[in-house]
Amino acid sequence: MRQIDHLIAGGGATSGGRMSDIFDPNNGGVQARVALGDAAVLDRAVAAAQAAQPGWAMTNPQRRARVMFEFKRLVEANIDSLAELLSSEHGKVIADSKGDIQRGLEVIEFCCGIPHVLKGEYTQGAGPGIDVYSMRQPIGIGAGITPFNFPAMIPLWMSGVAIATGNAFIIKPSERDPSVPVRLAELFLEAGLPEGICQVVNGDKEMVDAILDHPAIGAISFVGSSDIAHYVYNRGVAAGKRVQAMGGAKNHGIVMPDADLDQVVNDLAGAAFGSAGERCMALPVVVPVGDDTAERLKAKLIPAIEALRVGISTDSEAHYGPVVTAAHKAKVEGWIQKCADEGGEIIVDGRGFSLQGHEEGFFIGPTLIDHVTPDMESYREEIFGPVLQMVRAPDFETALSLPSKHQYGNGVAIFTRNGHAAREFAARVNVGMVGINVPIPVPVAYHTFGGWKRSAFGDTNQHGMEGVKFWTKVKTVTARWPDGGVGDGANAFVIPTMG
Ligand code: NAD
Repeated sequence: MRQIDHLIAGGGATSGGRMSDIFDPNNGGVQARVALGDAAVLDRAVAAAQAAQPGWAMTNPQRRARVMFEFKRLVEANIDSLAELLSSEHGKVIADSKGDIQRGLEVIEFCCGIPHVLKGEYTQGAGPGIDVYSMRQPIGIGAGITPFNFPAMIPLWMSGVAIATGNAFIIKPSERDPSVPVRLAELFLEAGLPEGICQVVNGDKEMVDAILDHPAIGAISFVGSSDIAHYVYNRGVAAGKRVQAMGGAKNHGIVMPDADLDQVVNDLAGAAFGSAGERCMALPVVVPVGDDTAERLKAKLIPAIEALRVGISTDSEAHYGPVVTAAHKAKVEGWIQKCADEGGEIIVDGRGFSLQGHEEGFFIGPTLIDHVTPDMESYREEIFGPVLQMVRAPDFETALSLPSKHQYGNGVAIFTRNGHAAREFAARVNVGMVGINVPIPVPVAYHTFGGWKRSAFGDTNQHGMEGVKFWTKVKTVTARWPDGGVGDGANAFVIPTMG
């Protein structure tokens, strides 16, 4: 059976300890085993990082950017095999895996311009004969801890910016689909990155805790579920590290009475069910404004949902594939039942879905539940499956308040033809990323990604300039070049001012 090892310094490394199964979600079988590392494995990676990082930081940013250009070329050249590998462990369809890789590559494209964004600020003549300038220097060693649902994009969000800014980076991928992050680290080496600058340590909580406690790791970027994000944030910060920790989500799509419902249905189908709903920017809650809108929307949604094709990852006609594990399938189906028990009306029930020839696969059919209300636990919590809950709102203010009051604040969308309503909504909603007639408003790479409330702990977002800020520390220099004369020294004991 295939074994997935760590990647330390320049090559694969086994730890000889615990292992975990990697499933094929399409047929339910175990297809590989991943090594679960411990603090000793991490120590080896940190030692390699410490040896390599000063030289990498001294490498001029233009040369660092050239590695990014070459890495981008290599990923593009290997995109078919990477997408197949990704789909085989995650379960998303191949086209969606290519999108996962492409969105990550866009961050690498941003990193190709790193010399430009690393230019500091400069003030000539801030005082008599005094110039002030700032520079951004790498933290040193950074670590990334990533979720299963975007095994290419999220490691690339972190590694691209961390590495381009001169850090050594250690990634701890999800133990459910770690092969693509390992492969990306190999491609970084092939692109010319020195050994020890991008490494992979596999593992579970034991490895995460080792990372959180390691004194040589200065910054940690985490993406995953909210309880773990909060834990990682607290423990990492307590250890004196810089931590950004992105958590779960429950994104709402507000449908105003004037919206183009055909467009909404098309957008919702993809945003609620694409990737089997396993996206932190999925739209699992639709909020039609007014009962008339709700009825019209429902009438169009039902046939659209029933027409969705659920298939194996390599089925090019399939809209989405299986969920990641049997345990996750059971959890999602449990939430559907819970929602029904709480009073939700199941309109389309995806439970019990079976794909001929793949009866053991982790498939769930698309599910639509109407009359969901804010007091239901199944509304308050993240389901993370192909389940769309409809929460009816009588008016715009109620619709606005639903995502605003929800514990999560990752993304939100409004569908309307009314510019005033959209503008008002974007300004007032208590959520980090807003789409206006855009169902999945994941910002482009040169902007920045991050939610609010329990969707993100810490104050700096992923990628774009926020990412550059996270992975660097600012040094500000105040410089004077005296011409040989000695000042009168009158104010030497008073805090200097430029006045
Ligand atoms: P998860 O929280 O189970 O795992 C994330 C990482 O944490 C993994 O590397 C895992 O090994 C580690 N981990 C798991 N349990 C741990 C523990 N007890 N202690 C320490 N570390 C632990 O998340 P997941 O199921 O892999 O991913 C799905 C979740 O990620 C969803 O909640 C989704 O919304 C969220 N997500 C958020 C964003 C965002 O940007 N906000 C993006 C993608 C996914």
